[in-house]
Amino acid sequence: MRVKAEYLNKIEIQWIQAAEQETARVLVVSGVHGNEPQSMKGTRLLSEYLSNPENELVTEILEGTTVVTVPLINIIGEMADARSCPEEAVEVEFRDSTVIVQDDEKGMYKFPSGWCDANAGWDTNGTLVKEHIARLIEMIAPTLIIFNHDWTLTQGKIYAYGPEVYDIPDIEMILKCFYPTSNILGIEWKFIDIIGPDFLNFTLPFILANELGIPVLLTEVCVGEDRSPEITLAVNLFILAMYSGAQIGDETVVNRILRSLNHDGKWWTR
Ligand SMILES: [Zn+2]
Repeated sequence: MRVKAEYLNKIEIQWIQAAEQETARVLVVSGVHGNEPQSMKGTRLLSEYLSNPENELVTEILEGTTVVTVPLINIIGEMADARSCPEEAVEVEFRDSTVIVQDDEKGMYKFPSGWCDANAGWDTNGTLVKEHIARLIEMIAPTLIIFNHDWTLTQGKIYAYGPEVYDIPDIEMILKCFYPTSNILGIEWKFIDIIGPDFLNFTLPFILANELGIPVLLTEVCVGEDRSPEITLAVNLFILAMYSGAQIGDETVVNRILRSLNHDGKWWTR
């Protein structure tokens, strides 16, 4: 049947707040592209991880920082297994809990009519994803936004938008724990790209950083690897630990994160 897209457009917001004196609010969003399941899974792992008060790193992070996660913001894209997202007034074909689009309209080159890439063109972007993000910003007033994506080749990467994020030291350190420092051609891999205001770039994170003044970090994990959700988790934890100034005794934050990933399916309890 044909239904208005807005009837399917319900997002799940997880609000993780323990701080008595809140100094920072971090909004973590994944699934801007509906066909990126690994970073969505990684964001869900983050919520679970941050829900364990027995973990010292968790209590340190949450002492002054509230974390709000939205693991899947492009609900309809995910139902269609498509990268793009419909605009508000669009009707979609809904059948057995899925949204039907043509196979050749699922990727980055061709979109169904009335759909577009939610990460591109803030001014021309009328997608439901953009509406959610605008509302979330109003509601949460985040001091930092993290967007988690899949799909980088061949190694993980972080894109940094906005002046404040330049000050987070050695952010690429955590990615170097998972990926080789050179790519398959033997060329040194750049783990972080700083997208300054002079770039010709009209993506969603760029506009948020340069027009609304909210610093943004966008993470990408390597496509098609089983460990990608855990890498998303590790990178997010590292960013949150650095950003909140977490102190965990003599152990380094990197070691603490890696130790908690070294598990039998129960890493979050350690
Ligand atoms: Zn993406």
